[in-house]
Amino acid sequence: MPSVADLITRKAAQEATCDTELPAEPWQTAQNASYGPGASRGDTFAPLPTPQAPLPARYTQASPEELDAMIAAAKEQLGDRVKILGHFYQRDEIVKFADFIGDSFNLAQQAKAHPEAEAFVFCGVHFMAETADILSGADQAVVLPNLNAGCSMADMANLAQVEACFDQLHEALPGEAIVPVTYMNSAADIKAFCGRNDGVVCTSSNAATVLKEAFERAERVVFLPDQHLGRNTARAMGITDEQMCMWNPNEPLGGNTAQQLAQAKVILWNGFCSVHRRFTVEQIEKARAEYPGVHVVVHPECPAPVVDAADSSGSTEVIRRVVENSAPGDVIAIGTEINMVNRLAQQYPDRTIFCLDPVVCPCSTMYRIHPAYLAWTLESLLEGRVENQIAVPEATAADARVALERMLAAKPC
Ligand code: SF4
Repeated sequence: MPSVADLITRKAAQEATCDTELPAEPWQTAQNASYGPGASRGDTFAPLPTPQAPLPARYTQASPEELDAMIAAAKEQLGDRVKILGHFYQRDEIVKFADFIGDSFNLAQQAKAHPEAEAFVFCGVHFMAETADILSGADQAVVLPNLNAGCSMADMANLAQVEACFDQLHEALPGEAIVPVTYMNSAADIKAFCGRNDGVVCTSSNAATVLKEAFERAERVVFLPDQHLGRNTARAMGITDEQMCMWNPNEPLGGNTAQQLAQAKVILWNGFCSVHRRFTVEQIEKARAEYPGVHVVVHPECPAPVVDAADSSGSTEVIRRVVENSAPGDVIAIGTEINMVNRLAQQYPDRTIFCLDPVVCPCSTMYRIHPAYLAWTLESLLEGRVENQIAVPEATAADARVALERMLAAKPC
């Protein structure tokens, strides 16, 4: 049972990452050296390689209705030449224009499945657009409407840090096979590192399958960048907390002793999602007290005690199916991003569906895809200009594809 002082400290730490006052006009914070308001506000900011250029006034000064009309008209004229991909966590004003809605991997597969399209406008965050570019054809363009839409979790592991980690591990554990497994939520060059080093990519729905196959090739795995998905997946496979350790890239040996590393089957990178780490066991207890019989479903990016206390856990697609398979009158408490929870609540008005977190903190970077950016990128395509193209260098893409293909070849366990 945590002490009151613990709870206060934890609450303060959580609030430091969150700000419910998202700017109506995200271009106002475009040049800030932070992720801006939202659930990743307190995270260390990774400098943007290419910050978003200012939007023309035609878009920043347009009303919501005018932006709607611009997007609808451009989309109609572009027809099948351009597909709009919308992540589950996007706001409704964007999702209503999406040709496909899904999680990051579903959407990247849509890019692969539509060779007839000249371009994909990816309404999500940077690593998602990179994956779509890697899987789509060489002559197809992938556009991210706002280049400032990154992902604070993906930014918590960069290539130099990961290479330094493996150099240190090989020195501390000579002759040992150590395989990197990276979550889809990572930069293309981290996926490519995995491809070059016998490693693999995973999603939140296939992490167990992928990890099991990785252990067929090595005694030890480094799981990047989400410590919680790594821990939850390993625990479900019977790996104990004592067989895991955390790697802090800012400390020698990741903050471990050589003996701790030698005992670890899974070395967890110390990244996390600021949205999902806000969910707590106390919130679940409160939901159960208020709604006896409630079904609690959380995303596996939540901390392990939260996943343990829930009735079920799984990817955004799993959460969607839990709701779809529920019956009228059911009560479902959800631990994931608020836009998705609100949309499910609207789709199923005969059920009580709510977010576990009473302080609503959307993903601040997902929120940066404002209709003004979507209107600008679509109208630019109409005029023959590809703005904000995400193009992964072919050498990186080729190695990343190896790690993605290993994932696709992994057999479900
Ligand atoms: S919800 Fe979390 S993991 Fe997803 S894009 Fe936002 S910060 Fe990244």
